[in-house]
Amino acid sequence: MLLSGKDVAAAMQEQMKKDVEALKAKGVNPTLGIIRMGEKPGDLSYEKGATKNCNEVGVAVKNYVLPEDAPQSELLKVIKQANEDKSVHGVLLFRPLPKQCDDNEARSLLLPAKDMDGITDGSMAGIYSDTGAGFPPCTAESVIKILDHYKVEIAGKDVVVLGRSTVIGKPVSMLLLKKNGTVTVCHSKTKDMAKKVQAADVVVVAMGRAWSVGKECFKAGQYVIDVGVNAKPNGEKGTCGDVRTEEVEPIVAGISPVPGGVGSVTSANLVTHVIDAAKKTAK
Ligand code: NAP
Repeated sequence: MLLSGKDVAAAMQEQMKKDVEALKAKGVNPTLGIIRMGEKPGDLSYEKGATKNCNEVGVAVKNYVLPEDAPQSELLKVIKQANEDKSVHGVLLFRPLPKQCDDNEARSLLLPAKDMDGITDGSMAGIYSDTGAGFPPCTAESVIKILDHYKVEIAGKDVVVLGRSTVIGKPVSMLLLKKNGTVTVCHSKTKDMAKKVQAADVVVVAMGRAWSVGKECFKAGQYVIDVGVNAKPNGEKGTCGDVRTEEVEPIVAGISPVPGGVGSVTSANLVTHVIDAAKKTAK
């Protein structure tokens, strides 16, 4: 069975429309601030998609655009402005930043309460301490949203996460632990990875290695979430995941496809974060 992220995103969108309506009735107009430096095609395309997703549910977008060669001081000024602007509930800062800018200093200035993609240390601390401070990275949280939508039980299950990056592997491991999974995190130095994957009930694959795991790793009854987004290694157009979905899907209980899986939920999740941030101010 394919665990369609598009279906999850569609369900989230329905809920978001209702939440925005309720917020607007209280006089709160949920707004996402997008800070972009330069005109990188990837950033422009993500911005276009994010704006469309926001507008579809009634969330407004405020754009802060700086030239690519703007100094760090200008970037910090804009982040401070977005922090202080009460009409902006959440902020998305496009990274990587141009080379003259200091990523750590920029991230540290953003308020965790407005950190829509979990890039600040405050948001990371929130995940580890369970205090609810900040927001988890959208992609990591999307894994949980897909599992929840398809009612995949995590409590008491053996979960294996392939990858330990700050943006996906580590936060998703903590979120799965919070749901009472027994979590094993694998990385490039892990021995007998296939054996660990085969023993798991749920597998989250986030290595960034196109089509690198296939039927040799999986068994019946497992749920697999493929986070990878890679160029197809055979030269064909389009993207593919880390898992060879075609050969794994007939074996396992469920697997999220690429595209149409985690990526679709990630985009919707960003908008959910803006609405959640706006709800906090409404309180
Ligand atoms: P990353 O920073 O490169 O981290 C990759 C992780 O995988 C590292 O921890 C690395 O181990 C581990 N790894 C790499 N090769 C391995 C191997 N052969 N065996 C075991 N572990 C291995 O990548 P990332 O930023 O986490 O992204 C992972 C994937 O998710 C990418 O394809 C990326 O494009 C995709 N992604 C998707 C979305 C979405 O919305 N769907 C969003 C963001 C990223 P070490 O730590 O030992 O090096």
